[in-house]
Amino acid sequence: MRDIDKIYIDGAFVTPHGGQRFDLYNPATEERIGSVRLGDAEDVRLAITAAKRAFPAMARTSKAERIAMLYRIRDAVKARADDLIAAMTEEYGAPTYFTGFSVQNTASIFEVMAASVEDYAFERIAGSSTVSMLPLGVIGAITPWNSNFGFIATKLAHAIGSGSTIVIKPAEQSAIQTQVLLECLHEAGLPKGVFNVVNGTGPEVGAALTAHPDVALITFTGSTPAAKIIQRSALETMKRFVLELGGKSPTIILDDADLDAAIPVALMSGFANSGQACVAGSRILVPRSRRDEILARLKRDAESFKVGIPTDPDVRIGPLANAAHWERVQSWIRLGQEEGASLMTGGEGRPEGLDRGWFARPTIFTEVTNSMRIAREEIFGPVLSVITYEDEAEAIAIANDSDFGLQAYVLSSDDGRALRMAQQLIAGRVVINGAPHDPRAPFGGFRQSGLGREIGAYGLDAFLEPRAILKPAA
Ligand code: ADP
Repeated sequence: MRDIDKIYIDGAFVTPHGGQRFDLYNPATEERIGSVRLGDAEDVRLAITAAKRAFPAMARTSKAERIAMLYRIRDAVKARADDLIAAMTEEYGAPTYFTGFSVQNTASIFEVMAASVEDYAFERIAGSSTVSMLPLGVIGAITPWNSNFGFIATKLAHAIGSGSTIVIKPAEQSAIQTQVLLECLHEAGLPKGVFNVVNGTGPEVGAALTAHPDVALITFTGSTPAAKIIQRSALETMKRFVLELGGKSPTIILDDADLDAAIPVALMSGFANSGQACVAGSRILVPRSRRDEILARLKRDAESFKVGIPTDPDVRIGPLANAAHWERVQSWIRLGQEEGASLMTGGEGRPEGLDRGWFARPTIFTEVTNSMRIAREEIFGPVLSVITYEDEAEAIAIANDSDFGLQAYVLSSDDGRALRMAQQLIAGRVVINGAPHDPRAPFGGFRQSGLGREIGAYGLDAFLEPRAILKPAA
């Protein structure tokens, strides 16, 4: 049992002013594994005060000092890799392949930021003026439960890289993971107040952060509906935003695709992180000329995807994160059938052999039209929609006919053709033929998938503001 009763303010673990408790569960067993004491608006105020006090010194740090801080955190994270993996497995239920990636990726986020700071031109010339790229002040960060340390790391790395300070409100469901990461961050020994973490709910702690006049920028990863509430709340004080939101990403299988390679990639893209991924390829676009063959393979391979306890190394799909989310995914599976889509595999309920845990069945709908809600809205579970197209032009039209634009996937045996397709897609990232994760590529989306970009110089640009100084000619 882990009872977490501290938050992190001004360089120390402190007891929150808020007294409410929130229970934590193991989603693979449904057992209660602990609780977290939640902060409140007063804790947010204290955290912002600490961050504000720490800002002037942080803003003056040199590139070398920021890089040193980033490497210290990277090392502290690496030293606790096993503990981070154990916490993510127990509290979130992610399969082994994903927990391993998550910790490695978290460490690499700090390395990538260090390299970006090294290369970034903080001082520039424009015309006859000098331009300084200045840090904004106190950053407010709000993160979701589907990749706890990765998102906290990204936001913290941008704050440090840009010379700002930060107050983070992580998802309260991930408090054990947050606690282990916080221990790493504390170990890194950064100056007091540079980062502060307040556990709490969105409507209380999140809302206090987004409304506070001393917060200059909100960096948020989560759902598009929550982002709209946050933007409204932050409007009054004209905050800057970096928003990384939902998706309904298309996976286009072209008619020349090598199906032995393409089908596993399409399914892994769709079922990534047990389907709880903003980048999940949840619409699979299939050419009519090869429809029957592709459907048969999708069905066969999806049914061989192992669903089960996250510690089994063969498992590809773990449980959904919590009971309410499991119910939500079930209702999407019902809705797909009501809308007239055909259930090719999966369906409601738990997979065979799993009688407890929030496991959903890997589900694929066919006969889906792009106007159905299951093709337009984010489900955030292992539920995929297959849409048939006639030719390339129609594939592009369907792919781009979405409120979102976060990621897209193209599968073809002709690299040139895949590239030409990619160049027509409206998405923050387009992945060709299962290309590996690139930790240096900008991340973020078009349309309602977000605002701004994270990572590298793109991320630093979003966290900085130019000040031009104009001088009379000498
Ligand atoms: P999820 O389903 O991943 O919880 P949300 O977008 O609802 O998706 O939540 C992402 C993060 O946003 C969480 O940390 C949550 O507490 C926070 N959040 C939710 N609603 C609000 C709000 N009104 N104001 C600020 N933060 C919020």
